[in-house]
Amino acid sequence: MIRKTRLFTPGPTPLLPAAQFAMAAADIHHRTPEFRALYTKVLRDLKTFVGTKNDVILLASSGTGAMEASVSNLTSPGDRVLVLSAGKFGERWVSLAKAFGCDVDVVSAPYGQTFDLEEVRRALKIETRAVFMQATETSTGVRHCVSGVAEVLKQSGKDAVLVVDAITGLGTTHINMDGWGVDVLIGGSQKAVMIPPGLSYLAVSDRAWELMEISLNPRYYFDLRKERKSAAKGESAYTPAVALIAALGAALDYIAAQADGDLAAGRAKLVENAETCAAMTRAAVEALGLKLFAPEAPSAAATAVLPPPGMDSGVFVKELKNRFAAVITNGQGEMKGQIFRIAHLGFFDYMDTIALVGALEQVASSLKLPGFAFGKALVAAQNVFASRAPDEAARHNCPCGRPIGHSAMAGVSLPAR
Ligand SMILES: *Cc1c(COP(=O)(O)O)cnc(C)c1O
Repeated sequence: MIRKTRLFTPGPTPLLPAAQFAMAAADIHHRTPEFRALYTKVLRDLKTFVGTKNDVILLASSGTGAMEASVSNLTSPGDRVLVLSAGKFGERWVSLAKAFGCDVDVVSAPYGQTFDLEEVRRALKIETRAVFMQATETSTGVRHCVSGVAEVLKQSGKDAVLVVDAITGLGTTHINMDGWGVDVLIGGSQKAVMIPPGLSYLAVSDRAWELMEISLNPRYYFDLRKERKSAAKGESAYTPAVALIAALGAALDYIAAQADGDLAAGRAKLVENAETCAAMTRAAVEALGLKLFAPEAPSAAATAVLPPPGMDSGVFVKELKNRFAAVITNGQGEMKGQIFRIAHLGFFDYMDTIALVGALEQVASSLKLPGFAFGKALVAAQNVFASRAPDEAARHNCPCGRPIGHSAMAGVSLPAR
């Protein structure tokens, strides 16, 4: 059979065709009214996508650039900071904070698990300047409780800012930045927004903007204050990644179009979509007799799966690639060989998920997994979809034809008491 290459990787993720066309057509100079119109619209839409009233800053870098920018802009050498770390991306916060001279406290959880909020509470010190965490730890497939950490911070009465790497959390997890009191929320282009790598973005609270004024760490290209000033005029401080910005505009339009032009509702649909794909995948791999690596706090961004005891997880990666051109990822770093990861964030749908489960059955069959029979994983995934889909549809199509969320009492007069 011929094979169509399909990415099931947690970044880069599959590209949205409309975004690819927008990139190809983005032959505009960045100091023109045409670009200013595009940039202003994309920044405004990004705010809606993130779900915040805060300014959003776009950077020409991969996600790590925005992580670095939040460390360099918010800290001074010698500052005490707290990192919540449970995987490769948590460890990246530790390295970054150390690189900028911070005194780093760490609350960690074993790979595959999330932190104990009580431990977070105890680790907060009066002088803690900032807390850094992930919304979803892509290396282990875990979802962390951002609202819980924000609550602990609020209750503590300490004024550390909360910085959340939501690079795979945005578009897979409901996040209420302003309501919870998150100070910096970071996203990246090659994840849920379905475009190529090369852009990162940060939503920044008033408190964080104030802190930047007294922070002493050096910054130049990633000086967020400079970018904010330029953005207010519809421009970026330096030459922007014009083509990627055009792609991002098209992707945000697509997400809005999923909910009749309402971008916030489109984002909620994107989250539900990832959650459904993730739930189908979890049920399928368990039906194959495989164990989830993060059964207690699984993220909808990616599902991490343990191979059968004694087997290298790379076998699944290789078989799916060689036989079906389906690209999944191995574990990162020392997790290589121990887990494989299947992504759900962004441009994945029911059809993609069912196809991958079908291919996984073929691989499980050729590997002669104990107790294997064709159909078990597919049935499990189908049942998950069938039990979720009507709810999802109901949320958007009220049987009365009015938009969902309308008042049930509209036009109905209540009997007098
Ligand atoms: C992808 C990712 C990043 C960013 O990595 P880059 O390679 O710099 O884009 C950061 N954090 C998490 C959780 C990620 O999944």
